[in-house]
Amino acid sequence: AIDVVKHFGTGGGWLSRYPVVQAVDGVSLEVRRGETFAIVGESGCGKSTLARLLMQLLTPTSGDVLFEGRQVSAIKGQELRRLRRDMQFIFQDPFSSLNPRMTVGKLVGEPLEIHAPDLSAQDRRAKVAELLRQVGLRAEHADRYPHEFSGGQRQRIGIARAVASGPKLIIGDEPVSALDVSVQAQVINLLGDLSRDLGLTLVIIAHDLGVIRHMSDRVAVMYLGRIVEVGTTEDVFADPQHPYTQALLAAVPSMDGAVTDHSETVHGEMPSPFDPPQGCRFHTRCPHAQALCKTQVPTLSTGKRASHQVACHFAETLPAQPRPATAPQK
Ligand code: SF4
Ligand code: MG
Repeated sequence: AIDVVKHFGTGGGWLSRYPVVQAVDGVSLEVRRGETFAIVGESGCGKSTLARLLMQLLTPTSGDVLFEGRQVSAIKGQELRRLRRDMQFIFQDPFSSLNPRMTVGKLVGEPLEIHAPDLSAQDRRAKVAELLRQVGLRAEHADRYPHEFSGGQRQRIGIARAVASGPKLIIGDEPVSALDVSVQAQVINLLGDLSRDLGLTLVIIAHDLGVIRHMSDRVAVMYLGRIVEVGTTEDVFADPQHPYTQALLAAVPSMDGAVTDHSETVHGEMPSPFDPPQGCRFHTRCPHAQALCKTQVPTLSTGKRASHQVACHFAETLPAQPRPATAPQK
């Protein structure tokens, strides 16, 4: 479970005349064991901040991340080591996250050295070979260096490294967005296969709905630091309730498997996170905005189905069909 607020601000003094940025504002999510959960939004919506909060690279201003019912920030010592084994990460740029001076064998073997120190060197090599095969690489690749591989192969190495310690949860921050379109689907399929075969829970952060459509069980849509809609991927794609989700989806190509960048499809500029709109943060770009939307913050609440939640005052009365957003009203 995640329940966090992250303000980026200043400690006081002369800087405090600048407003605080709420990159993530009261985001509450629950990810269930074994599911693939996607968090989607345009760049600047706060999903990278959310990823960094999950990865404990940032500390929330308030709230916390619970893993198996335990407050992650309070876990220390021996327990922390176990947490680091159970929770692994895949990064957007597999190249910068892999030490260029380490062989692939060393990179994939490193988590084993830490988390399975009793393994003999020979057993570790065998395990590395098995991991490489599991991610679609060859055992011989263990002697090579990251720069000898393509982007997709490097991401496979990153995945092998993440899987090596036998984690329960893998968090991927835009794991395929740096890859060629033709390679994205392969890596997504690999993640899907691994999560099924290893019983992993996956949290995938993406800016592209097309990317997660075929892999995630549930999806949360984020806008300016808030979750605007959560539901099963099937429900959200078939019957999007929030105008922002509707606009995003109206632009997803109908051809299955087509993966493109839709980050420019909602009209109007994303407002500055330094000064987010009052009320519903989407009101400056929403074709259905009314006076109430400018003052009252809509809370995430259950719509037609218990499993589908939306944060919009008028979700019940909006047209059912996904439709593109019109130009923003001033
Ligand atoms: Fe649009 Fe109002 Fe709903 Fe926000 S609350 S999405 S502005 S209709
Ligand atoms: Mg980002």
